[in-house]
Amino acid sequence: MIRSLKGTYDILPDESWRWQTLEAQLHDFMSIYGYKEIRTPAFEKTELFSRGVGEETDIVSKEMYTWLDGGKTNLTLKPELTAPVVRSYIQHNLGALSPVTKLYYMDALFRRERPQKGRQRQFHQFGVEALGTPFPEADAEVIAIAYEFMISLGITNLKLKLNSIGSGQCRTAYKDALKEYLSPHIQELSETSRLRFETNPLRILDTKIEHEIELLGKAPDILGFLTADDETHFSEVRELLDGMKIPYVLDKRMVRGLDYYTRTTFEITSSALGSQDALCGGGRYDKLVETLGGKSTPAVGFAAGVERLLIALDEIGKTEEPSKTDIYFVGLGDQARKAGIKLVHDLRKQGYKSNYDLVRRSMKAQMRESNKSGARIVLILGDQELENNQIQIKDLENSQQMTINLDELKNHLYKLEL
Ligand code: AMP
Repeated sequence: MIRSLKGTYDILPDESWRWQTLEAQLHDFMSIYGYKEIRTPAFEKTELFSRGVGEETDIVSKEMYTWLDGGKTNLTLKPELTAPVVRSYIQHNLGALSPVTKLYYMDALFRRERPQKGRQRQFHQFGVEALGTPFPEADAEVIAIAYEFMISLGITNLKLKLNSIGSGQCRTAYKDALKEYLSPHIQELSETSRLRFETNPLRILDTKIEHEIELLGKAPDILGFLTADDETHFSEVRELLDGMKIPYVLDKRMVRGLDYYTRTTFEITSSALGSQDALCGGGRYDKLVETLGGKSTPAVGFAAGVERLLIALDEIGKTEEPSKTDIYFVGLGDQARKAGIKLVHDLRKQGYKSNYDLVRRSMKAQMRESNKSGARIVLILGDQELENNQIQIKDLENSQQMTINLDELKNHLYKLEL
């Protein structure tokens, strides 16, 4: 038997409705905020990610599915969604259409990670990107979308963590200061942190190791390195969030994994999840469009893990699948069964979710199936009734059953307001 690959999974029929519901909620929600959907291809040139996301990041250095296509071009299954969106934004000159381009997406992505609960190799994210404005109102809007969408889904125990990592200049100074502070302690650091010390020291702040967290407690504070402009920007973001009554906590260790962030960074976690508690992460990326060959365009966005949202919703309490059937037809005898097929066909054309037995089972089995289907109405037709141009109609909501003229069925169903 050929099985699915490690870290990948099937979304089976008894689960796909949850995805459909979430997708529909996302589309509705985004239209309220004036964002439009963008869809980009599943694979791109590897260079897009190595340049955009950064060579030293975990994603680019060890998690990408990359191959040499036709012996010529290095291609990669997309491991994140911002770089492709920015590539598309530049390629199609979307910025020319209006000063701010507000985009959202929901898509699959691929990372060669160690699979565990809430961590797959193919997973899904939805997210937004607002391109074209440096102002804090865009940061606040994007954060509000992330937070309010989760609230609207009913996810509880949310924690919004907020930080600013400043713009390029202060970051270089901060990296130096952090390295200077850590260098006498280099032997106490884990292998990963030692490597990061050389390649990407800010990422050491992401550590989950207790004694490193303790050590970092006395490290220089990134907020102390912000320029006056960065500070003003950050305080305005906070003021706007306060105004919208969106609760947040400041977390100066939250730097996010990707290289392209500038100024605001944020993350939303939920205690409904286990160790992989991050639901969404994002921030400002004022230099990425330029890095990828476009005009200087400040931007801000976030991405949220769809599987994690569904896990969080599960923890809160499993939701019931809404009934997929209005009417179930039960036929007795050959003629009645054939007439039923025509009848159900007509009902379906009128928009009723209708079903019948495709395997010619007994009446008892068909009745059982009608119960299982969740249908409110069961139509029962025997050859005798057919001859009399009649049909039995059973309303499972009040257990009432009656025989009516077949010509009256349409009117009768209409009155029931299924
Ligand atoms: P990132 O793109 O790494 O900032 O991740 C954004 C969000 O995607 C995280 O907060 C998670 O909810 C989700 N996520 C990241 N990696 C995975 C993964 N391997 N499997 C499932 N969800 C993930």
